Amino acid sequence: MGVVEIADRTWRIESLIGPRNLFQYVLAGDGRTAEALLVDAGTSASPRDAILPALRRLGIRAETVRYLVVTHPDLDHQGGLSILKQELPNAVAACGFADRGLVSEPERLVTDRYGAYEREHGVGYTDAEKESIRDLYGSPVSIDITFAGGEQIELGDRQLSVLHAPGHSAGHLVLYEPASGLLFSSDAVHWRFCPAADGNAALPPTYEDVEPYLATIDLLESLAPHELHSGHWPARTGSEVLAFLRESREFVGALDAVLQERLEAPSTLRELCEHVEMRLGPFGADPVNLMFVVHGHLRRLGRRGDVRTLDPSERPRRFELAVAAR
Ligand SMILES: [Zn+2]
Repeated sequence: MGVVEIADRTWRIESLIGPRNLFQYVLAGDGRTAEALLVDAGTSASPRDAILPALRRLGIRAETVRYLVVTHPDLDHQGGLSILKQELPNAVAACGFADRGLVSEPERLVTDRYGAYEREHGVGYTDAEKESIRDLYGSPVSIDITFAGGEQIELGDRQLSVLHAPGHSAGHLVLYEPASGLLFSSDAVHWRFCPAADGNAALPPTYEDVEPYLATIDLLESLAPHELHSGHWPARTGSEVLAFLRESREFVGALDAVLQERLEAPSTLRELCEHVEMRLGPFGADPVNLMFVVHGHLRRLGRRGDVRTLDPSERPRRFELAVAAR
C-alpha cells in the first residue's frame, strides 16, 4: 500500500476497501504553477489513511491541489470529499452534472442508489450493511463545479479532457490526457467482475444503465488509450486496454442471454440475481450485488418488448419473456 509513480508527475495512491484495491490518482502540472489534481476521494477513511500521507510523501503542498474530481457517486469514491475540502484549502470539488445530488448528500446513496430496489423487488442491503455504508460515505458537502463532459482542465503544462461516461452512474466522469494517452476511468467500465487484490472475483459488475454503458465502452475504445487506470482494476496497457473493453462488452451480451434463459419462467429480481451468479459467477459476493446490472438489463429488455412484468402491483415484482421473444 502507498503511492506509486505511473507516469511523469502522475501517481496512483493505493489502499484497500475490504478485499479490493482502491485507487486514487494524483496529477501534477509543471514546476511553475505546481498545481495538482486528484481523481476520486476514496472513503471517509481514505484522506487520513492514504491520500494526505501520499501527498506529503510526494511533496505536494495542500495549497497547490486545485481540483478534486469525484468521478461518480459511491462511498468509495466520494466518502473522503468533505475532509479533503477542509484539508486542501484551494481545491474545488467537482463531479458529473447528473451526479451532483448523490455526491453532495451521501445519505441519498443509501436511499436512492443502493436502496433503489427494496420497495418493488424486496432486494437490497441489510441494516448492518447500511450502517457500514454510512461509516464510510462521508459528510454532506457542497460541490463547486459540475462537468457535463467535453470540458478541458489545464494543469500547468498539461491538458486533460473531461468526458461523460455514464452507465455505472448517470453522470460518471473519466479524465483523458491526449498527450500521454493516459485514461483515468474509475468505475466507468466493469469487465467481468471487480477483483480482490489477489485477483480473485470480489464483486460482480455494477453498471445500471445498459445502453449508456455500451456507449461508454465504444467511446473509450475510440480514444485508443495507451493506459487505462481505474478505481479497482490493475492498470491495463497497450493491447490489454482494448481487450478489457471488449471483454466488458461481451459480458453484457452474456448477461442478456442467461437472463432470457431464466425468464422462460416468471422470475423475481432476486431469483434472476441468483441465476446469474450460478451461470456467470462466482462473483465473490452476495448475489444481491447483481441487482444493479440485472435490473438494468430487465429495463432494456422491457423497452424492447422482450420481457413483460406480470402484475405491476405485485411485490416483489415478477418478470417473464414476452410471447414474441419466445
Ligand atoms: Zn468503486
